[in-house]
Amino acid sequence: MTTDNSHDWALATQAIRAGHARTHEQEHGEPIFPTSSFVYASAAEAARKFKGEEPGNVYSRFTNPTVRNFEQRLAVMEGGERCVATSSGMSAILSTALALLQAGDEIVASRSLFGSTVSLFDKYLGKFGIVTRYVELSDLEAWEAAITPATKLLFAETPSNPLSEVVDIAALAEIAHRHDALLAIDNCFLTPALQKPIELGADLVIHSATKYLDGQGRAIGGAVVGRDKELEELFGVVRTCGPCMSPFNAWIFLKGLETLNLRMRAHCENAMALARWLEAHPAVSRVHYSGLESHPQHVLASRQQQGYGAVLGLEVAPSSGKSARDAAWSVIDATQVMSITGNLGDVKTTITHPGTTTHGRLSDEQRATAGISEGLIRVAVGLEDIDDLKADLARGLDALV
Ligand SMILES: *Cc1c(COP(=O)(O)O)cnc(C)c1O
Repeated sequence: MTTDNSHDWALATQAIRAGHARTHEQEHGEPIFPTSSFVYASAAEAARKFKGEEPGNVYSRFTNPTVRNFEQRLAVMEGGERCVATSSGMSAILSTALALLQAGDEIVASRSLFGSTVSLFDKYLGKFGIVTRYVELSDLEAWEAAITPATKLLFAETPSNPLSEVVDIAALAEIAHRHDALLAIDNCFLTPALQKPIELGADLVIHSATKYLDGQGRAIGGAVVGRDKELEELFGVVRTCGPCMSPFNAWIFLKGLETLNLRMRAHCENAMALARWLEAHPAVSRVHYSGLESHPQHVLASRQQQGYGAVLGLEVAPSSGKSARDAAWSVIDATQVMSITGNLGDVKTTITHPGTTTHGRLSDEQRATAGISEGLIRVAVGLEDIDDLKADLARGLDALV
């Protein structure tokens, strides 16, 4: 654990200062340790380190000082006892499952999950006899009804992508614990700068560091934060099975965390301004953003979150002979600043048509249940000037009126 008093600091200070154990070189910036292994002063020391009788580094698949720096910083920021970094967000989820579940166990998960998470649960965990039941994210009664004596894990993303649905984390944690299950929250969309699931009762927080923790689209990585007990199991999985984070990527994420607090506030400000402007545009039939008073869970989001994030959905209707899908595509194709890509969590604004990309492999019925209409467009709002973003969308939207 950390040797500083970073637990007492505010988030902005933790993000900049926590976890750096300065070496004898007295470096000011966090060093990168690009080494696969570590050496010992004697055969006896090597024996003690290998047996685990003496703490210290052995091999970078187990521990690495730069990776540890990132883990300690994120653990403190999320308010967890310990963090284990992984090679990607997906391997963070896989490692959690390998650590905590076995054949015959069940997961209850929200229906609005990152696509690869659903594939991981159904296609791969399913092969090993782990069953996942899906429920409507905000429907607490449905969560409880889906729990069986075999349920070991509840898993949710909140707010959801791309419709910004929200679940009451404290209420869901209470349900999980009443049934002896753990609650894992994928906190990718808000980060600890805007939401602290552990303080609300969640047991595990999962991150794709690829998104806002980096914030500039440079590297793939992930992390799990929680209590020592579960994280020791997770550490065992990562150390043995090998989805460890590279020290270079850990360093990039450390630099990303230093500006996280500022960036998330700026992302939210831009997203809110864009959402309000879109809501007033005559070509837009609906805007999905939990920061708007028109969002059905605005009150819950305001209580649970310190901000509303920067992913929003807007819907356009069929217009002047164009189907809803063609209308949406024309708005996307008219942009010149935004990037047409499925990624998010970047200073660069991205725009996509979920119905034919991220949710394209679902059946029409599954898409309808998930609320992904043909006219839906997702914007992950970046940090460009807000007037340039409005003008970029106005080009296509004005043509639909
Ligand atoms: C991107 C993403 C993941 C997967 O993370 P990778 O780093 O791409 O493996 C998981 N959950 C959410 C919510 C994501 O957006």
